[in-house]
Amino acid sequence: MEISKPHAALLSSPGMGHLIPVLELSKRLVTHHDFTVTVFVVSCHMSQAESQVIQSSISPKLFDIVQLPPVDTTHLVDANATVVTHIAVMMREARPAIRSAISSMNPRPTALIVDLFGTESLPIAEEHGLLKYVYIPSNAWFLALTVHVPFLDREVEGEYVDQIEPLRIPGCRAVRPEDVVRMGKEIPTSDGPLTLAAFRDETLLGRFTKTPVYPIGPLTRPLSGSRSELFDWLDKQPSESVIFVSFGSGGSLSYKQMTELAWGLELSQHRFIWVVRPPTKTAADDTFFTAGTASGDDDPSTYLPDGFLTRTKNKGLLVPIWAPQVEVLSHPSVGGFLSHCGWNSTLESVANGVPMIVWPLYSEQKMNSTLLAEELGVAVRPKELPSKKVVGREEIEKMVRQIIEDKEGKNATRARVKELKYSAEKALSKGGSSYNALSRLAQQITDLHATTESEALRAT
Ligand code: UDP
Repeated sequence: MEISKPHAALLSSPGMGHLIPVLELSKRLVTHHDFTVTVFVVSCHMSQAESQVIQSSISPKLFDIVQLPPVDTTHLVDANATVVTHIAVMMREARPAIRSAISSMNPRPTALIVDLFGTESLPIAEEHGLLKYVYIPSNAWFLALTVHVPFLDREVEGEYVDQIEPLRIPGCRAVRPEDVVRMGKEIPTSDGPLTLAAFRDETLLGRFTKTPVYPIGPLTRPLSGSRSELFDWLDKQPSESVIFVSFGSGGSLSYKQMTELAWGLELSQHRFIWVVRPPTKTAADDTFFTAGTASGDDDPSTYLPDGFLTRTKNKGLLVPIWAPQVEVLSHPSVGGFLSHCGWNSTLESVANGVPMIVWPLYSEQKMNSTLLAEELGVAVRPKELPSKKVVGREEIEKMVRQIIEDKEGKNATRARVKELKYSAEKALSKGGSSYNALSRLAQQITDLHATTESEALRAT
């Protein structure tokens, strides 16, 4: 009998922001650790632009991707519920399909790796005798909060948003109550050496969870090599002079906020590329499942201030709906990123040494913003977050100047993000912290696989 490769199944929740990190982890398991990988994706609407990004990131084909049937949740979730709720319910309803897909795999994988929305499928791994892991493509602070929430639930009376004092997490920066997102109570049940100080220390988070943590990342998409007119324009701009403005695969702004942003960019007199989408009528959440799709009312002159397009035509470029973000951020003319701080966008900015203006809209983006601006010092943030209050043009103008202007190389934010870029490269290279952590995880799966194989051999 031929010895087979270790096989891991990965489960991705809907949305391109969730699928990208799963695909990047899969690639590394295949290319660095000689695994066979099957990725299960719970389907949802994906725009053409999003599908293209996914296609280019899985070429050449290194592993199988299995689309699970779409789940209809309209009768289960209120139309006004948040994106987080929609996805959580979809993942719960997809469990029978996930179970039957895993049962029918032959040979069975040795491990199931689920993302944060897939934790309710961990018992399925247990039923099939698989090792089980939760993959959280986010920062350690967010993970710490996620693991600690069940304990906070016992301590805090009433709603988190109503608390006045920041919520304390052992060994970590306290979290502002309004920044909290709740999920992942099953994480302490997964398998998995502790390296994050707070998790390792018995007096800190180590008291609350014995689950091992493998710090892997930052994993970002590679460049696709796509080239459009946008790059002809970028090629003509001075080094690090352009601010890129984009709100992820689904974010959009209110009409009032778009007006202020347009004025802020114009007043700053700096160069910009802005991925524009028609304004939202209600919450930014609205477009998460439909963004990247042209809808007919995409002409920016209908919703941007009168004369803005003419006045800024030599300074800025508007890209309707979707831009090749990784390629733009890696261009030497780009010197800043006004971003909604989704974790992929955050990593893509850091990996390219681009300082940020944080503009969180929903979910864990607020924590990401606080981390970037207050802990890491690689970003500036508006005094009041845009999810609370419209950010005015003068403040936007000031933030753009703060990020782009770099008199005699004294821009500390820019200097820090370059340092972080360097340490990210080090972590990912052979022998680096991320490389070693993934090797340890791969070894655990490989060992179990080898034991199972030799038992099967003995039985024949
Ligand atoms: N993206 C892109 N072009 C756009 C908007 C987004 O290529 O115009 C990509 C971006 O590079 C990132 C992903 O879409 O890889 C968005 O993921 P993120 O986690 O930042 O945010 P989400 O879309 O999940 O809110």
